[in-house]
Amino acid sequence: MLEFNQVHKAYATPQGPLEVLTAVDLELRPGGSLALMGESGSGKSTLLHLAAGLDLPDSGEVVVAGRSVSTLDEPDRARLRRETLGLVFQQFHLVPSLNVIDNLRLQARLAKRETPEWSAHLMERLGLAGLERRYPEQLSGGQQQRLAIGRALAPRPALLLADEPTGNLDETTAGEVLELLLDLVREAGSALLMVTHSLRVAAPLDRCLRLTHGRLEPPSGAEASHR
Ligand code: ATP
Ligand code: MG
Repeated sequence: MLEFNQVHKAYATPQGPLEVLTAVDLELRPGGSLALMGESGSGKSTLLHLAAGLDLPDSGEVVVAGRSVSTLDEPDRARLRRETLGLVFQQFHLVPSLNVIDNLRLQARLAKRETPEWSAHLMERLGLAGLERRYPEQLSGGQQQRLAIGRALAPRPALLLADEPTGNLDETTAGEVLELLLDLVREAGSALLMVTHSLRVAAPLDRCLRLTHGRLEPPSGAEASHR
């Protein structure tokens, strides 16, 4: 579903190139789940951007749904994103001018994969039934993030990429939203790559890897025994 082969990525800075990913290897199978941990600035969001084809590696290969991202031009990468990926970020990125139900349907419509039954089911599961005509600013933070998750999963993407999806929520709300995210990922049949700072958040996922010095490593002993 997702494969990184010896991926290298550096950013140009006034002080010279900043090496962020030096040799990243990764394999995520269809329906599998992986938690990505690592210090702030270790390159987790960079890795997710590469997985989404929003940026390209300097060398090495990123393969999404069997297609090598570097060989595609931007329109083809955009199509791959639309048809294969769901994205959820710490900031909710809802469209303020669209009401709840139109936000929910946005991705599914773009992917030409909207099913009214699944949309209605999602609205129920997200606890947003009855709030269809509200606008994002009229929702709580937890409701906004549930909506962002529902929107990403509405097309039943093969892969959901989530960058600290509960980072902006209080602990109780974060726990509830995470549980919902994992349930809906399972129902949608999506694979999941999720960045998190929290071991508790990582625990229910199949695997956990830590980004250190530009490489992916198994979590340290304390973290491993916590799981
Ligand atoms: P956090 O946990 O704080 O979100 P992260 O692991 O997601 O951190 P990244 O956002 O991937 O880290 O950034 C990795 C490094 O690359 C950081 O040192 C950051 O300052 C730098 N960086 C990120 N984007 C750019 C860019 N567009 N240009 C230059 N440097 C960048
Ligand atoms: Mg980040």
